[in-house]
Amino acid sequence: MADVLPAVESEHLTYRFGDHVAVDDVSLRVQLGQVFGLLGPNGAGKTTAIRLITTLLPVQQGHVRVFGVDAHQEPFRVRRMMGYVPQQLSADASLTGAENVALFARLFDVPRRERRRRVSEALEMVGLAAAADRLAATYSGGMVRRLELAQALVNRPHLLVLDEPTIGLDPVARDSVWDGVEELVTHEGTTVLVTTHYMEEADQHCDEVALMHLGRIRAVGTPHDLKAAQGPDATLEDVFRHWAGERLIDGTGEDFSDVRSTRRAAGRLR
Ligand code: ATP
Repeated sequence: MADVLPAVESEHLTYRFGDHVAVDDVSLRVQLGQVFGLLGPNGAGKTTAIRLITTLLPVQQGHVRVFGVDAHQEPFRVRRMMGYVPQQLSADASLTGAENVALFARLFDVPRRERRRRVSEALEMVGLAAAADRLAATYSGGMVRRLELAQALVNRPHLLVLDEPTIGLDPVARDSVWDGVEELVTHEGTTVLVTTHYMEEADQHCDEVALMHLGRIRAVGTPHDLKAAQGPDATLEDVFRHWAGERLIDGTGEDFSDVRSTRRAAGRLR
């Protein structure tokens, strides 16, 4: 049987901001239908790696292929196959949930006659159908994040890339975001590449994880295998400390405006 193409494959990917090597010789494979977690503390290089994979940064050295398509040679084909939810807030508080998703349907060139149905489907998938006509300003932090998932889904991507989807959310809201992701994987067969520094979430929800520190991948495997290799009763955080020697931060409960400020603070001023 012919090998199935991986959803994402990077080979010796390296990216420099001036003299600073943000992504250092990263080789990764995300298999079809997986939830793959790229883990690491702030500054590890996760966002830079994601930007290379989503074609938002040009490949300087190495290769990235998405479903076999080279990101450097055919960035537009790669973009059409993926949905991307960045760290920065992308929902508009002054629009309703449905209007926010409809805006993305127009951006993605979803045919006009299909838009209404596709917007409803996307909102349904993330559990926001009942709140579709409320202003996003009235949404909780978890609802805002799920709305952003719906925005990315309206394009029916084969690969969904999520940058810190649960940062700054309370545990209930974090669970609701993961419920939305799991719904997609189970019912749509979507492949998900997610960055996070929440080890417990990665342990619970990712099929495979890569631990990233100072631009390099330190370990890759299933959470189960990585923990087992570390020792009896080891947590993923123990595994991470072993490789990176760093403490990882935790999140708190917030609403729309708090999420916005947390996520602004969580990102750097660029
Ligand atoms: P975070 O969770 O804080 O976003 P991260 O793991 O996503 O962290 P990156 O944002 O990829 O990390 O940053 C990796 C390194 O590259 C950091 O040392 C960061 O300071 C540096 N860096 C990121 N963007 C730029 C930029 N535009 N110019 C210069 N250096 C940058």
